[in-house]
Amino acid sequence: MRCLYCDKTIKTYTFSSLFLKEDELCPSCRKKLKIKRRKINLGEFEVETFYDYDGIFRDLLLQYKECHDEALKDVFLYGLKEYIETAYHGYRLLLIPSTAGKREERGFDHLKEMFRLVQLHRAEGLEMRLDFTQEGKKLEERALMRDNFTYNGPFLDKIVIADDVLTTGSTLKGAFSCMPKHSKKVKVLSLAYKNITLHY
Ligand SMILES: [Zn+2]
Repeated sequence: MRCLYCDKTIKTYTFSSLFLKEDELCPSCRKKLKIKRRKINLGEFEVETFYDYDGIFRDLLLQYKECHDEALKDVFLYGLKEYIETAYHGYRLLLIPSTAGKREERGFDHLKEMFRLVQLHRAEGLEMRLDFTQEGKKLEERALMRDNFTYNGPFLDKIVIADDVLTTGSTLKGAFSCMPKHSKKVKVLSLAYKNITLHY
């Protein structure tokens, strides 16, 4: 097997590799993809994040999402899956939907694939009103995202909303704002945090 990032051969003689899904990154790439857990306060709620959006995480995510390299789907939650299952035990996982246009362009639903091995029950019914994406949008236009979500699923006691990258928070704020009347407890997580003050 070869590392999906650096293409080096990965030795696979370990005892556990017979039973567990193997890491598709080599040990040195995995080490660079450091998990750095933090809570980002967005005012009305906190978001738990796990990676910085830069370096190897950014490379892998762009390759996965923009170059449609579906083989990378399992590298992002490797080593995190168990934590998420424990920390959000009893919560329904509600993924931020991709727009129909993006789904069609990629040929897969990127977030659904990334979280596919996480053993939490799913919640469905979150939809975007308008089919536009954030990429290349100016900050003030992103504010529109706030009113861009509807939820038409059932009432659920505990929901955890999940996304891949937290930037301005407008997507998550939009999704969060339509949830309180549909759930007693709403938590939010995002795999990575892109600190815009460092990037502009
Ligand atoms: Zn590697």
